Amino acid sequence: MTSDSPDSKTTLTHCGLVALVGKPNVGKSTLLNYMIGQKLSITSRKPQTTRHRILGIKTHENNQMIFVDTPGVHSGQNKAINRYMNKTVQGVIRDVDLILFIVDRVKWTEEDELVLQQLQNNQAPVFLVINKIDLVENKETLLPFIEALEGRYPFKEIFPLSALRQHNIDALESAIIKHLPEGDFYYPDDQLTDKNARFLAAEFIREKITRQIGDELPYETTVEIEEFKQEGKTVHISALILVEKSGQKKIIIGDKGSRLKLIGTEARKELEQLLGTKIMLNLWVKVKRGWSDDERALKSLGYDDMFQG
Ligand code: GDP
Ligand code: MG
Repeated sequence: MTSDSPDSKTTLTHCGLVALVGKPNVGKSTLLNYMIGQKLSITSRKPQTTRHRILGIKTHENNQMIFVDTPGVHSGQNKAINRYMNKTVQGVIRDVDLILFIVDRVKWTEEDELVLQQLQNNQAPVFLVINKIDLVENKETLLPFIEALEGRYPFKEIFPLSALRQHNIDALESAIIKHLPEGDFYYPDDQLTDKNARFLAAEFIREKITRQIGDELPYETTVEIEEFKQEGKTVHISALILVEKSGQKKIIIGDKGSRLKLIGTEARKELEQLLGTKIMLNLWVKVKRGWSDDERALKSLGYDDMFQG
């Protein structure tokens, strides 16, 4: 049987987007890292997934799982931020094929409630993943918790597991594979190209900015990679953080540059781990208006605020 024969089983592939949702600290990253294992392969965005931040791709035999992130659901004071976040969560889960709703044991909180609300009008099947089961001493508390939640949402399947102790994850993975739609792989099982690494560098820096600054700086930052070049065993990266207002620039730089330094150090460490090379990272912060007014003039003047590490 040739591979292009219409009834060939060998060409039948399944591929789908799997969203991880859940409040911070429930174990999303731990679970993902274990499932992806050494096969971590993050690639640049494709048109059909522009709305998603891809966390990792796992291709196993004829199946490709593309795990996508959702922004954390905030229950803080800032209403505008909450609305923004909620809108983004909606956007992300609208066109995925499967959703993993991850909770921390039976400790249901207001934040979980917010996430559950986000799932109400959604089409994709949802698995409830009850993580950190290794910390549950009295397993009898599980059943009433599960029954109560089943009454609130038609979960397709429910998996109590431990991402950390790697307990019951195989069952989850088999179920995920069963729910992947038939179709070609979106991504080749490829290496990180230079272009992808550039993209990732910008993403990581942006993530660290958000992590450091949170609600103080709502989504007006852009990161541009100015230089990305390998010299020997070191990759030199220069990135420009563009903000809208000088006040935001002050916030990012922090007291005597302390915040920018933290952002740079964290981004560098994560990139070094991912790319497996030593990295020299230079960060500058500029107010967008000034920058675009006369790019060359600014360059020739040098940059006034920078992190180097
Ligand atoms: P995320 O914010 O949802 O991505 O959560 P993380 O994956 O970063 O995990 C938050 C914390 O919970 C970390 O300290 C993990 O080691 C811990 N953790 C994650 N999964 C488990 C688990 O199954 N059991 C236990 N005991 N700890 C876990
Ligand atoms: Mg995480």
